[in-house]
Amino acid sequence: MTVSKQTGKEVATIARRSKRSPAEFSMKFTFGTNWKMRNLGRDEAREYVRVVAASLPRLANTRIFILPPVTLIRDMALEAAENRILIGAQNFHWAPEGEFTGEISTALLKQEGAAIVMVGHAERRSLFGESDQVINRKLKRALADGLQVVLCVGDSEPDLAAAKLQETFFRQIGIALDGVAPDASGKLIVAYEPVWAIGEAAKGAPSGEQVTSCVDLIRRALQRAFGGAADEIPVLYGGSVGPGNCRQFVAGTGVNGLFVGRSARDPHRFVLLIQEALSVMEKKTPNAPP
Ligand code: PEP
Repeated sequence: MTVSKQTGKEVATIARRSKRSPAEFSMKFTFGTNWKMRNLGRDEAREYVRVVAASLPRLANTRIFILPPVTLIRDMALEAAENRILIGAQNFHWAPEGEFTGEISTALLKQEGAAIVMVGHAERRSLFGESDQVINRKLKRALADGLQVVLCVGDSEPDLAAAKLQETFFRQIGIALDGVAPDASGKLIVAYEPVWAIGEAAKGAPSGEQVTSCVDLIRRALQRAFGGAADEIPVLYGGSVGPGNCRQFVAGTGVNGLFVGRSARDPHRFVLLIQEALSVMEKKTPNAPP
């Protein structure tokens, strides 16, 4: 691959970030945001990173990732270069390169400074027809290229029976991780996002009990795929979370952090939300992975 025009400083910064080891990111709590197709200027995007970075001294033991639209990755990755915020992509193709008009490869994303990518978001599954098999191919590509991966899974209806929930998570996780070695655990994050609870069309949000039982099923599915190595994988909750309501999703539910859409549009609100969640998780719950 031919590297595009970059200043020496940019090349060095991005190379340094892509060489960080998974252990460097083995923080107790993880918080992420997906910006979807939000139109934001480069300056605003950089400012967002600055605001979140400024709060890091108050957020010990946390790993934060931001998934902006692809054209903002470079600016944000450069802004985040000296701190522990990961910038990454919402989508990419499973092939290393080739005749896939309109698609983007992991190599190009890394060139922009992406350190993390997402697969399996409900909008990719429903609007773009991405199957569990496609998610598996993408996940393997990302891991092969040394990227961290957020795998989203979720139930489709608020009142699914326990057997149906188990079937859903075991299928989504079993297929997504098919052919993936357990030693990839350090590179994986799973986001539990009930499809009915995310975005503007959300029908509501799950109770703490619902989150607890779904996270438990997700952990069982991960253990089935990876055995003991699965314990390293953080499981986040996402869907209609905001400052003021995060306690129900994190208090005693077994989640290791949150994945946020609308409530993270403003960086100050995102930081507030993280602080609220941490105050519950650090004191009241044994959420931290060993
Ligand atoms: C999402 O769409 O992944 C999400 C978590 O959205 P929101 O927080 O806006 O419900």
